Amino acid sequence: MTMPLEIVTVACLKDNYAFIAHDPDTGETAVIDVPEAAPIQAELDRQGWTVDEILITHHHDDHIAGVEALREAHPAARVTGAAADAHRLPPLDREVAEGDTVTIGAEAGEVLDVSGHSVGHIAFHFPASEVAFTGDSLMALGCGRIFEGTPEMMWDSLRKLAALPPETTICSGHEYTAANAAFAVTIEPDNAALTARKAQIDSARTKGQPTVPTQLATELATNPFLRAGLDEVKSAIGMAGAADAAVFAEIRKRKDNF
Ligand code: ZN
Ligand code: FE
Repeated sequence: MTMPLEIVTVACLKDNYAFIAHDPDTGETAVIDVPEAAPIQAELDRQGWTVDEILITHHHDDHIAGVEALREAHPAARVTGAAADAHRLPPLDREVAEGDTVTIGAEAGEVLDVSGHSVGHIAFHFPASEVAFTGDSLMALGCGRIFEGTPEMMWDSLRKLAALPPETTICSGHEYTAANAAFAVTIEPDNAALTARKAQIDSARTKGQPTVPTQLATELATNPFLRAGLDEVKSAIGMAGAADAAVFAEIRKRKDNF
């Protein structure tokens, strides 16, 4: 019997998250994104785990700044990142692209290209454990700002993630959820699931509790960026009949100016 990966969320820097994924069957451990090494190492010490794999979602400093320190502490760790980003990531032991397989212990994960926030941004989906590490692509109630790609590119990336099984746990890179919720209700004021979720988020944040990870089903019901293809969302922002990607682009633009 194979047990699912054990996922530990580690708060880093001001509002970043790193994730530790541990395979109880083999004892192997992966770290997904390394904003800074110290809090991750503290959690590894607490658990008694050593790092076998470091998986990087994208090149921004707040996701890779701690890679070298963590690698020094775990010299056997293998560092994996996007081939397309190899020139601006810490030295990689393995370069991957969409469709490639990564493993954490006995469990295989699929690499998805989710460019848009950056070009070369990847996500890792582990179907057996029903978990995806999405970095700054799909985020809790939001999506990353489009720095390098185009809205069409980001929309394609979000559609790929939206097609994963709805029970998938979404591990994203930041605690931006309260601000995302304040924006989301301006797009869909009549979405009851969103209103209820916003109340939960605001209450969790008041208590200092994290809102990440989340579940894809929850995102599909409430995240305005994922919902840009729905008639009700198009109508809500006065774009009935418009193309999905154009509606997504408009919602993203409104958030940038929010
Ligand atoms: Zn980023
Ligand atoms: Fe980030």
